[in-house]
Amino acid sequence: MHEKSIAQLSAGLKAGEFSSTELVGHYLGRIESTDESLNSFVTVSRDLALQQAEAADRRIRKGNAGPLTGIPVAHKDIFCTDGVKTSCGSRMLDNFIAPYDATLVSRLGDAGAVMLGKTNMDEFAMGSSNETSYYGPVRNPWDADLVPGGSSGGSAAAVSARLCAGATGTDTGGSIRQPAALCGITGLKPTYGRVSRYGMIAFASSLDQGGTLTRSAEDAALLLQAMAGFDPRDSTSAEEPVPDYAATLEADISGLRIGLPKEYFGEGLDPGVGDAVLAAVDEYRGMGAGVVEISLPNTRLAVPTYYVVAPAECSSNLSRFDGVRFGHRCEAPKNLEDMYMRSRGEGFGAEVKRRILIGTYALSAGYYDAYYLKAQQIRQLISDDFRQAFAKVDVIMGPTSPTTAFAIGERTDDPVTMYLSDIYTIAVNLAGLPGISVPTALVGGKPAGLQIIGNYFQEAKLLNVAHRLQQATDWHLAVPEGM
Ligand code: GLN
Repeated sequence: MHEKSIAQLSAGLKAGEFSSTELVGHYLGRIESTDESLNSFVTVSRDLALQQAEAADRRIRKGNAGPLTGIPVAHKDIFCTDGVKTSCGSRMLDNFIAPYDATLVSRLGDAGAVMLGKTNMDEFAMGSSNETSYYGPVRNPWDADLVPGGSSGGSAAAVSARLCAGATGTDTGGSIRQPAALCGITGLKPTYGRVSRYGMIAFASSLDQGGTLTRSAEDAALLLQAMAGFDPRDSTSAEEPVPDYAATLEADISGLRIGLPKEYFGEGLDPGVGDAVLAAVDEYRGMGAGVVEISLPNTRLAVPTYYVVAPAECSSNLSRFDGVRFGHRCEAPKNLEDMYMRSRGEGFGAEVKRRILIGTYALSAGYYDAYYLKAQQIRQLISDDFRQAFAKVDVIMGPTSPTTAFAIGERTDDPVTMYLSDIYTIAVNLAGLPGISVPTALVGGKPAGLQIIGNYFQEAKLLNVAHRLQQATDWHLAVPEGM
């Protein structure tokens, strides 16, 4: 059953070939036998999953099932789940049980999806390799010595190893697209505001966006359909109507104008990854798309700009974890200050502390204009680059990440190299645009991703363009050995 896509599973459930209870039991069995080595789940909510599966089976029998009813999914452990631990990959929240569901979780639940559990992640979504998690690194199903990417590495590994039919993730600077690329799956980061952030633990509020990790664009369309749309509980969620994503998946793409930014194919790009990306672009040429070279001149400023904006926002967001109301509290505090200091000192890991320090420094009196304000101005220039590009092209294509998956431990002592893993994804968050990573040809036996960037709220176009590639090629069907 785990070979099937969400669309195929949905058809099988409706036709009575198997029940959701059987399907969920099958996936729980796979998690039990495989995940000890991968470490992709922090929590498996077995009893709840079986209850939800029974409810789904009743709904299917009554004939009012939707396309996600009974489908087993996993949520990144950054989304609050009522009654189930939400750790955000941190010791700080190791004891935290949220009293409510994130909007994304409740919408998928209302659509009938079954939650198998919560996936491992970099601590507070800060990382590109899943090595900053309090629960230990996640391993890449393609090769256990390699990282799965991050920060949604648990979700990416679980989907890639077929431990769930699809998963959710969040992307602040690349955390859906980069692990999707490194694990050989499809990762969609929607337009900022497309999916509600309510109940999604905040890292950098002006950049964070929830999205999907799936085996195909078609599956991503099904999940996004249920997740997207205005939420009165999130003041930054967009009041844009949600189109029918499945309806336009097959649309003809001849005449599509593809822009290839010259800055995305220069120094730092692994030549094998570059060739794999160009092989996908050639497929599009064969489908009648036109390809032009474009320029995004401020690309080199994206990573430094992000590493002012994101830490600044995180230093403010993470000030709520003080040991007072929830989360980790140190033993026997001597006084209030001691409690704050030791609770935060013990609760947060090294990368989170590094970001809080950078952010607090950048926001301190006298430095605000020099750093945060400056970064916001450059952010505008980066958005303008995209605006100009989209006057000439319909979509922008390039690599998702400069290399394939790297070894566990290889970049942990070198934060700058680690930060450069997101060189092609970060600008998209700074501009608030949607992007999708789809698997292209394997490079030395390892997955590589093609990134497709669209204009604001053009998720339907991205899914259409990605789906057409997945109809023409079988790169997305490659599965790690033994999975
Ligand atoms: N890797 C980037 C970081 O470490 C992006 C993380 C993310 O998108 N959540 O901040």
